[in-house]
Amino acid sequence: MLGRGLLKDFPNPERIGCPGAEVLKKIASHQMPLSEAEKWLDHLGSCSPCYSDFKRFAEAHESRRRRTLLAAAAAILLALGITGWALLHVRNENLVADTAVLNLRDRSPARGGEPIPGEQPLEVSRAVKHLNVYLPLGSAEGPYEMRVTTTAGSAVFATNGVASLKDGVTSIQVVVDLSSASSGRYVLQVRRPNSEWNSYPLLLR
Ligand SMILES: [Zn+2]
Repeated sequence: MLGRGLLKDFPNPERIGCPGAEVLKKIASHQMPLSEAEKWLDHLGSCSPCYSDFKRFAEAHESRRRRTLLAAAAAILLALGITGWALLHVRNENLVADTAVLNLRDRSPARGGEPIPGEQPLEVSRAVKHLNVYLPLGSAEGPYEMRVTTTAGSAVFATNGVASLKDGVTSIQVVVDLSSASSGRYVLQVRRPNSEWNSYPLLLR
């Protein structure tokens, strides 16, 4: 039963008859089927140098296994992090797509919603849920009424809000639902309560 490997693994002549480091390693790392390892178990129980080698190999195997688990856990966390970031990113984009800015600062209100020659109508998607309306320069803060009418003058949506001044811009944020209107030409109307409507041509997409 003497092999070269044994002598190399265990130069100590007292350990002749011991299974050898490779066998102990395989047992310790569960790489050897139990049926095969069985014949060494008695030896392990009675030979203290083999038992301490076995313990050392088992501990090394356990810490390798733990490192592998940690690496796997880190990989999962990283993947979750990326997924979370991607979800957040998509959500933010949806949020942005939900919101439209209508800039009235440089526009002159049109009587009856008739387009002013050379001026493009405001454009907004029917899917938009939030409007951020920049009121014309010099507009006062406070309550406003806002509505969207057909060019014939019937309202398809009406709401109100409170305008506030920030960074020199008087703006008003309103929640809108234009999903039931068909696309086409409309008129955005804005006024302070009990005042005349100011009208702006609006293209619903
Ligand atoms: Zn031994």
